[in-house]
Amino acid sequence: MQRAEPQDFARVLSSMCTRPHPSARAAAERFLATNPGDPGTYRTVAALEREAVELLGEVASLSDPAGYVTSGGTEANVQAVRIARNRARGRTDAPNVVAPESAHFSFTKAADVLGVELRRAPLSDYRADVDAMAELVDADTVCVVGVAGSTEYGRVDPVPAIADLARDRGALCHVDAAWGGFALPFTDHDWDFADAPVDTMTIDPHKLGRAAVPAGGLLARDGSLLDALAIDTPYLESTAQVTLTGTRSGAGVASAVAAMEALWPDGYAREEARAAADAEWLAGELTARGYEVVPPTLPLVAVDLPDRTVEALRERGWRLSRTAAGEARIVVMPHVTRGVLSAFLADLDRVE
Ligand SMILES: *Cc1c(COP(=O)(O)O)cnc(C)c1O
Repeated sequence: MQRAEPQDFARVLSSMCTRPHPSARAAAERFLATNPGDPGTYRTVAALEREAVELLGEVASLSDPAGYVTSGGTEANVQAVRIARNRARGRTDAPNVVAPESAHFSFTKAADVLGVELRRAPLSDYRADVDAMAELVDADTVCVVGVAGSTEYGRVDPVPAIADLARDRGALCHVDAAWGGFALPFTDHDWDFADAPVDTMTIDPHKLGRAAVPAGGLLARDGSLLDALAIDTPYLESTAQVTLTGTRSGAGVASAVAAMEALWPDGYAREEARAAADAEWLAGELTARGYEVVPPTLPLVAVDLPDRTVEALRERGWRLSRTAAGEARIVVMPHVTRGVLSAFLADLDRVE
């Protein structure tokens, strides 16, 4: 039997993950056999996790941050909704969460497992429409969600207005920056804890943070928010646990720290500038060829390509995904360089 090899990243345009930074890869290997879910036993990785949360707090302008390294954005979003639901116990029997239509499908999972109603408000120009969201908020709303870097189009919602809406109505505000969080500090968007009264945030090292999978991030404005998640843990040395998973990856935790130590802030800043320029360049090249492009705000280009063109490109090895509306999505991740994009355009010209 031939040994299975992982895919090469050279033609992957659809993924929000990328090659880990070399020191993140090395750290993941070193900490492979550790379990931060049992911090009393695995003390070094538990200390590293506190460091990861500190560093994530720096990225998101949150001093004295609380949180932990999750299995990914999905777990972080589920846990944020769980915090909001649990804190509203006694206030409502029929909790709901109000989010823009662009919210990631992990909120559908969160609503399902937590028994919460998910209300999705229509968008305006690919972003949350705060008036439309306000119409869906009522006395049973426990959480209002803003997306900072949407999965389909890379758009950033008006986070300060969403946070004000949440605060006015007595709900928590959660920002989903799972993908965008490591690019946004170098843009002029208002998205983080310094810009608005945000309560919780999802920000994933294993996407633009260049950590190894699995390394997601949940941040909370203060530790008391996490109390809503705590359950007793009778047979561990530690006495309570706030995570959703029990045993979990120390590789993800260690690689998140290694990636952020290597790249925050200059490395991420350089990559954001490179990716933004290449996304603009790609959008211009596609527009010049007569395709309809949704202009990028973060480095993600959506372009209307005919089905047969997408199929022909897939046959040539390009990994391309589509938005719900059918556009091809090109995520300009660190492995998607100008050279990769030029090769893609050359193939696009060949198959047309
Ligand atoms: C990727 C993504 C998620 C889900 O994260 P996973 O790590 O895949 O679980 C959630 N929200 C947004 C905005 C994302 O881009």
